[in-house]
Amino acid sequence: MTAPAILGNITPAEAYRLLRDSSADARPLLEEAARIRARRTGRTITYSRKVFIPLTNLCRDQCGYCTFARLPEDPHAHTMTPGEVLAAAEAGREAGCKEALFSLGERPELRYPGHKRWLEERGYTSTIGYLAAMCRLVFERTGLLPHANPGTMSPDEMAQLRPFNVSMGMMLESVSNRLLRPGEAHHACPDKVPAARLGTLEAAGRLRVPFTTGILIGIGETLEERVDSLFAIRDIHRRHGHIQEVIIQNFRAKPDTRFAQWPEPETSDLVLTAALARVIFGGEVNVQIPPNLTSPDFGGLLRAGINDWGGISPVTRDYINPERRWPAIRALRDVTEQAGFELRERLAVYPEFVREQREFLPELLKDRVIQMADASGLVRPTEERW
Ligand code: SF4
Repeated sequence: MTAPAILGNITPAEAYRLLRDSSADARPLLEEAARIRARRTGRTITYSRKVFIPLTNLCRDQCGYCTFARLPEDPHAHTMTPGEVLAAAEAGREAGCKEALFSLGERPELRYPGHKRWLEERGYTSTIGYLAAMCRLVFERTGLLPHANPGTMSPDEMAQLRPFNVSMGMMLESVSNRLLRPGEAHHACPDKVPAARLGTLEAAGRLRVPFTTGILIGIGETLEERVDSLFAIRDIHRRHGHIQEVIIQNFRAKPDTRFAQWPEPETSDLVLTAALARVIFGGEVNVQIPPNLTSPDFGGLLRAGINDWGGISPVTRDYINPERRWPAIRALRDVTEQAGFELRERLAVYPEFVREQREFLPELLKDRVIQMADASGLVRPTEERW
């Protein structure tokens, strides 16, 4: 993994033109994205072997496309107890996972008094406080590296999570305020206000937290808004240098949601947007497309210049997209190799932060990270398990 760390210097107007023109002729954009990837990460494509821990599926927001969040009266509504968290993490450790991905709804205690009471009975004043305790529990008892994904976070909340999180994440999704209007994807979602999400990205930068973010395409944003979202991430990264990964995720229509009939974006649209992200971020930042949200023939996504498949769980399903199974890690390797690349396992923190920027690593996790990584910053080959 060697790369001149240079952010792309394309302007928003040029980027928009490039994306629009590429629908007629995709080749120049795809070739440029592939060239940047080759300079940056060569033939290596990474993934993280993770266990997915859905700490609570209560959420105060009401995104039009979401099937993860449940109302408290729903029989499937659930907040995991410490015992359940530990059991999931143990199963992950036994299956060779290195990452404990905590995904959860946003600030449910502000909407549901019953959940607030549930927390108080256990000595917590917020879901994030409970999450911080569970990250610590998992690290201390299993050695897995936590990566928390609780949505928007204030600087204080992030500081609570930081000691036991090797990195954190939150999808920006979109900078479009228009999507908050009635009928749009983010109506009735106080945590999807773009300024709040950009504030979280800024807070992560100031606290030196390696951070994963990304955009969700096809939820009603215009192409200009999509490009603006990528540039908003680039500008924050330019100030702090902490964005480790940008995910380009495609909207999938799910039954029983407000957006059940909403048109899904074409795979070609996804590929071009990811290629544009590769050009915008230039020699910096890893670009990922999740492999389980398109066709089973996901190898074609590598044309976009991406260098990562994200977290793959050998023990739990994708709770956010439960109808879309993750590929088996062996299949992921086969598809990657058939496209002429090598698949390597990474940690929940990317190699560049392990190798060169150790000030980003929390003190209490540093030794564990160094023990798990090889000289390149990826998982030691002796620890990889197919
Ligand atoms: S997508 Fe996330 S923020 Fe939106 S309703 Fe679902 S859990 Fe909540």
